[in-house]
Amino acid sequence: MALERSIDAAGGGFLYAVPEVLRGLAVGQRVVVPLGRGNASVTGWVVRTQDTPDPAIKRLKPVLALADDGPPLPDELVTLARWIAAYYCCPLGMVFGTMMPAAAKRAIGRRMQERVRAVPAAEGDRDQVKLSALQGALYAAAVADGGWLQPRELAGRVGAKTLGPVKQLVAKGLLESRRVAVVQSDLDLRAQKEAAYADTPPPLMGSQQRAVDALVRALCGGFSVHLLHGITGSGKTEVYLRVIDALLRSGESLEHTANLPGAIVLVPEIALTPQTVGRFIARFGETVAVLHSGLTAAQRNAQWTRIRTGGAQIVVGARSAVFAPLPRVGLIVVDEEHEGSYKQDQLPRYHARDVAVRRAQLCGCPVLLGSATPSLESYAHAVGGRYALHRLPDRVPGARLPAAEIVDLQRERRERKGVHLLSRRLEALVTRNHAAGGQAVLLLNRRGYANYITCPDHRCGWMMRCHHCDVTMVYHRGPSGSDGLGAGGVVRCHHCQAEQMLERVCPESGHNTTVFGLGTQRVEEEISRKFPGLKLARMDADTMRSAADYRRVLEAFGAGETDLLLGTQMIAKGLDVENVRLVGVVSADTALNLPDFRASERTFQLIAQVAGRAGRGRHRGRVVVQTFSPGDPAIVQAAAHDFEGFAQTELKSREGVGLPPAGRMARIVLRDLDPAALERRGEAMARQLREAVSALVAGVRVRGPAACAIARIADHHRIQIELMADTAAPIQRVLTALRNAGELISDTHTAVDVDPVGLL
Ligand code: ADP
Ligand code: ZN
Repeated sequence: MALERSIDAAGGGFLYAVPEVLRGLAVGQRVVVPLGRGNASVTGWVVRTQDTPDPAIKRLKPVLALADDGPPLPDELVTLARWIAAYYCCPLGMVFGTMMPAAAKRAIGRRMQERVRAVPAAEGDRDQVKLSALQGALYAAAVADGGWLQPRELAGRVGAKTLGPVKQLVAKGLLESRRVAVVQSDLDLRAQKEAAYADTPPPLMGSQQRAVDALVRALCGGFSVHLLHGITGSGKTEVYLRVIDALLRSGESLEHTANLPGAIVLVPEIALTPQTVGRFIARFGETVAVLHSGLTAAQRNAQWTRIRTGGAQIVVGARSAVFAPLPRVGLIVVDEEHEGSYKQDQLPRYHARDVAVRRAQLCGCPVLLGSATPSLESYAHAVGGRYALHRLPDRVPGARLPAAEIVDLQRERRERKGVHLLSRRLEALVTRNHAAGGQAVLLLNRRGYANYITCPDHRCGWMMRCHHCDVTMVYHRGPSGSDGLGAGGVVRCHHCQAEQMLERVCPESGHNTTVFGLGTQRVEEEISRKFPGLKLARMDADTMRSAADYRRVLEAFGAGETDLLLGTQMIAKGLDVENVRLVGVVSADTALNLPDFRASERTFQLIAQVAGRAGRGRHRGRVVVQTFSPGDPAIVQAAAHDFEGFAQTELKSREGVGLPPAGRMARIVLRDLDPAALERRGEAMARQLREAVSALVAGVRVRGPAACAIARIADHHRIQIELMADTAAPIQRVLTALRNAGELISDTHTAVDVDPVGLL
């Protein structure tokens, strides 16, 4: 039994006896068991069963009950959970816990309802029982149907106004009645259908057709991994749709429809891309189920239950949809596979893309990874021949890649007086584009107003920092502030959310403080001042509180009611609005100088993705990239739409130092309120890791302990130890050895992150 809490039982979990009433308990079922002295009821998952009791074990506590009455998890999910627990170093029960949404565990929206059907054997007795005309008609209708019906529906079929006659037939023994569990939800997927996308698919371009043909062939060829590298606007989604269509058709010829093959489509943070969901529903209708954070608990449970009981063949969802309990998976698609949000940053720290590949392997089906800017991990596999590579090098007919130019902000600053967030070039283009009737998108990947509050005296150097974290505080303008430092503003830490009042006077030198650095609020202020006639919407984590907010802003922009959309990276993905003719990157430098070896890769992706929003219709788009590093290769190559060039340079430099994907990595982050205790723990762990390496396996480099890039968050000091090797296996051996010895337990003070994507 794997208990659904953070007990890390690497040794195989807990044993329980199966009482007679639960005979037939299967692997993958969720049950309630007693735990500990007090016999507290906890939930757990059956991971193994054995018929004969182990003589070595004296007395076992019994399983108390089934935790839910649904079917057990499919076998492959049980195997997958074991793999995740081992590979990502996390408690098995917790992995199972993640596989089932909380709303389903708590049975939110679940109701018991009555169903009736004709008693089969009653047919002959019917003559002995006197029935009214209405009762007779009801009974005949029930016999004709043969199935379990809702009483109201049955009554409706013969025009009965009340349920009285149904009840009377039950009393007479001609109808049998039972109660069933149903999950009710008010989610109407048909309402999400995107009218903008025609139900009839467009004729494919040659490159799309070649990709579709290869993938359709792969559908009956077992496990294989495919990378679809298609530039922005090249019709990747259309490829997914066609391949899934072929998959569904392949099921039509099957005799048994109970186990039709289905598809899982992963999309990053789906609330941001209602368009994508709408396209799947427009093409496939009722057989689509969605799973994402924008649903209410009841809606999520209803969707999940539908998937589990075979009521949907296509699941479109965010990260955890990789665990969707489809009875039979025939294809997994991971859209925007490079997205960092596929990695969960809390226990269990799995990467949904890599889990998708593993699940496809267990299901014996193809997995399709798609992106305009593939991760270097996937790209290296494709170049190395382990993944099949399909390219879509051109935009769909009628659209062209936008022309991109780089603006040197250093030069701009020399040549122009005052503080301007938009360069003269970008300003001119915003004006011209608006006059020509075009819409624009401006990206700045930092929210708030300004990210530094400092003393203007350079000799003083004071800066407002968080009391709880080693980071600077960010100034957020209040709703009433019009002059930047107006009333109602607040200073906030983006790591622990602590708030302080703005210090208007430097506590060290007594000078009046100033704010500098950029944030979306400040850009918003400048645009409103410089372009009063422009209808502007801002999209960042501060303005977007719910999925409904996104939908509203995106719909208004899509309908042309807004002229300019300003936002953080959340506007860079998926947005498909034909009239966007101008894209401006206010600062390409926000990610460039982060102490993370993927800084260049992230910068490239962000620019290329947001640039891809321009010129998707008839009008050629323009992109302006503002930067203080105009010669940086990531920026130059992104502006030149040169992914391959970028990938080659970047791969070479990673190879030089053995960083992923040229090598593999695991990172252990330790945190503690007490820095001295933390240091001792770090030293001890590093020593144990080094000992395990020298005793077990060569070729693992242990680095650290060293302070994390952000050395303190929410009063907890943080240090890290990194394990590096050419391949994953030796790192796994070292981690497993420590884990089995009880020396390495993932908990709130120790985070083991295998294949980390964030390194701060
Ligand atoms: P990507 O996902 O690669 O950015 P999309 O799949 O969103 O691109 O396609 C962009 C637009 O082009 C969509 O409106 C889509 O319906 C349309 N489209 C896709 N394939 C074709 C095609 N072969 N001919 C015409 N339009 C197409
Ligand atoms: Zn803080």
